Amino acid sequence: MKYVFGNWKMNLGIRESVALARGVARSLRGKESVPEVAVFPAFTALSEVHKALSRSRVQLGAQNIGVEKSGAYTGEVSSSMLEDVGCSYALIGHSERRWKFAESDELIADRLKACLASKVTPVLCVGESVAEREDGSHEEFVTGQMKSALSDIDVSNASDLIVAYEPVWAIGTGETATVAQVVEMHTHIRSTLQSILEMNAEEFSILYGGSVNPENAYELLREREIGGVLVGGASLKIHAFQDILEAATEVITAQGA
Ligand code: PEP
Repeated sequence: MKYVFGNWKMNLGIRESVALARGVARSLRGKESVPEVAVFPAFTALSEVHKALSRSRVQLGAQNIGVEKSGAYTGEVSSSMLEDVGCSYALIGHSERRWKFAESDELIADRLKACLASKVTPVLCVGESVAEREDGSHEEFVTGQMKSALSDIDVSNASDLIVAYEPVWAIGTGETATVAQVVEMHTHIRSTLQSILEMNAEEFSILYGGSVNPENAYELLREREIGGVLVGGASLKIHAFQDILEAATEVITAQGA
């Protein structure tokens, strides 16, 4: 199984979101082997996009998830609200939340717990900034993010949790990590999952995100260690996203995955 997720960030109104979602759904129609595809619109568009995707194979995701179920938490959207609107996935700890909105490791751990207690599957985002990459502490840094998010949680199946490796220096910059860098970090993330969760981590899906585009998607997706891609900018352009979906479909067909 390969995943292709599109993070639309704070872009598109309801009408544009619905149109883009329909385009994504159309590109999977009639195909036998397709990746698991999800789009992550702004909260305001979730309901209409859900309706637009109702007869398609495209899943819906949210860009964040609240810790509490309900109450005096202005600005937050709870897991039960996301279930209600039809979300299958939620991003947690995206670097823009960590760096631009100062979301702490503790808050991210609480969001993850709330998500795991719901029917929404968490996509835990981790990744180092350019400073850690340059001084060689990137693996240690990602281990720290994973330990604080995962130390106190219960995961019984590998399908309960997706990890997305998104190096901050590659997000929205046009600079993609090399395949070798991604594979090396994914291998590290997998062994960290194994030691923190004390379970076989072979089956976990680890996605890569950071300036994925139609030119680099195939070489990333064909790696067995790379379970899929989390796409930002290129997921807003229907032709670019369709090309990435096409690359994933080719890999699936070639590998029988
Ligand atoms: C993202 O926002 O998760 C992302 C990977 O963005 P981009 O593809 O634009 O680098």
